[in-house]
Amino acid sequence: MLQQPAASERKGNDTMKAYERLLKYVVVRTPSDENSETVPSSQCQFDLAKILEAEMKELGLKDVHLDDQCYLYGNLPATAGYEDKPAIGFIAHMDTVADFCDHDIVPVLTENYSGEAMEIAESGLILSPEIFPHLASLKGRTLITSDGTTVLGADDKAGIAEILTMIERVQKENVPHGKLCVAFTPDEEIGTGASHFNVKEFGADYAYTMDGDTEGEIQYENFNACKACFDIKGFNVHPGSSKDAMINASLVAIEINNMLPGCETPRGTEEYEGFYHLVSMSGECASAQLNYIVRDHDKNLFEARKKTLSLIAKDLNEKWGEGTVTLTITEQYKNMAEIIAGCMHLIDNAKIACEAADVTPLVIPIRGGTDGCQLSFKGLPCPNLGTGGHAYHGPYEHITVEGMDKSVDVMMELVKLYAK
Ligand SMILES: [Zn+2]
Repeated sequence: MLQQPAASERKGNDTMKAYERLLKYVVVRTPSDENSETVPSSQCQFDLAKILEAEMKELGLKDVHLDDQCYLYGNLPATAGYEDKPAIGFIAHMDTVADFCDHDIVPVLTENYSGEAMEIAESGLILSPEIFPHLASLKGRTLITSDGTTVLGADDKAGIAEILTMIERVQKENVPHGKLCVAFTPDEEIGTGASHFNVKEFGADYAYTMDGDTEGEIQYENFNACKACFDIKGFNVHPGSSKDAMINASLVAIEINNMLPGCETPRGTEEYEGFYHLVSMSGECASAQLNYIVRDHDKNLFEARKKTLSLIAKDLNEKWGEGTVTLTITEQYKNMAEIIAGCMHLIDNAKIACEAADVTPLVIPIRGGTDGCQLSFKGLPCPNLGTGGHAYHGPYEHITVEGMDKSVDVMMELVKLYAK
């Protein structure tokens, strides 16, 4: 069932609902582009940034500034008498994945969702509790999906919508607060969202990214992460006369992968367990390349994984000749848990805020990373909170009106806690 946002029916003094903002933002397509060298990686992210810039000014935020790399900042100064309270920040990203995002996004609302298998609009795609068991718990809610041909973009426009709704409510409900800082960033989906973030301009002591799934999620333990690339040089001789001479780079590549523990893959691991993931491979006799990503929550085990890879390179160079295998390791992000350990009030308060908002707090280790990892190591401790969304990065993506409202309630409680 297609529905228009109810914005026009609202009376002057009512607060805009978070989902109404979401419906405005998702139709502005903002895929980031991992093949781009520019910052932001795609100019379309400015289209949304400019809308948000205007909205932030309208909401009374101060120092609203959109920089030329598409980072948007603003703040709500502390209520008189609350200037000594910690400045708390809320961050969300404006880009979406590029997959399933090549044409217009049409949000679809389904009121009073049955909690059972449902076709997404007329796409033929079935949103089924067999694949997404949490769907049953959404029974009775208003479900928001795309028309089944694109992502919805609730990742992370739901975060943006919820933050601005919180800012509006704090003011309309006269909630006393310390300084509240807001930032919207580009290029999170290509891993560079925090790279050009100006922690000083942002001005917060602590922050939360609003970029998780289910409402009530609190995330502060993530992977340590690097890329590992093996370049293999072969020695190509005519196959008819290559006895004891040819080195087939592709066969050396196979040898490398066979030296890794076969079950330590994304498919074979869960929770805190780490893995080697062969992302891509190419090869012929003369040369070959293997590209892995390596992940582990535990710092020591992560170091041990990198050591294993260097030993494989060393071993094969001894066997096939120096220079046959070159290993390049590129660090990506680190587990923020070691930083958050110094300010666990961020997690404790998030739990209290959830309970006060009648949401079950879910502290879950992330099998990935967030912009908050880099920010935490840049001096801005920054756990991640849920927005109420599910099944990101594909056409099954969905969120509920009620889940978004709950996520705003959690933020409201956090603001109150930090003003105590
Ligand atoms: Zn996201």
